[in-house]
Amino acid sequence: MVAEGLDPNGPAWSVVPLNHARSVAVGLPLIADFRRHLRRTAEELPLTGAAYRLEPAVADGDETAALARGCATCRGWCCRRGGSHAFLDARSLARMLAMNPTLDVEDLEARYVAHIGSTHLRGGCLFQGERGCRLPRSLRSDTCNTWLCDDLDAARQRWRAGATDPADHHFVPMPRMAGGAPSIGGH
Ligand code: SF4
Ligand code: SF4
Repeated sequence: MVAEGLDPNGPAWSVVPLNHARSVAVGLPLIADFRRHLRRTAEELPLTGAAYRLEPAVADGDETAALARGCATCRGWCCRRGGSHAFLDARSLARMLAMNPTLDVEDLEARYVAHIGSTHLRGGCLFQGERGCRLPRSLRSDTCNTWLCDDLDAARQRWRAGATDPADHHFVPMPRMAGGAPSIGGH
């Protein structure tokens, strides 16, 4: 769908959600919940076996940069669901321990806790800072490293079909209800 009033020959664009949440202090209960989640998840590790990837799958080049721009514009609408677990599952922990064989679970917990800031976006993941995720990619869950919302997925499909160029793509933030809203975009 092409919105009225926009130059059809102008740059390609599409919408992303907009997270309005403001920064609030990270409470001690949230941190305690995270520690509990990590330890509980670590107990599942023997069950996961060796079936993990050593590297999360990521897109490359202009696509990666464009996706990052979209998420920065959005301010992490989907990260609101990260709560005190940050989507960290046993598979993700297994990957991190495989990449850092000298670490044990306690070391990993200390590493995570060191990345918790004094603030996060209200109601969101405890690692969700004003400027985005406080975790380096290598410590993010497989879910966080691979997830694309419908809006970004639609934009990526257009890039991969050669319809538009990711390097020249603009994202327009659009507030929406919790259940989401139809995506619209320009050529
Ligand atoms: S994946 Fe989509 S909802 Fe999540 S932060 Fe990026 S643009 Fe926002
Ligand atoms: S760990 Fe980072 S990317 Fe994952 S939900 Fe939390 S803020 Fe978002």
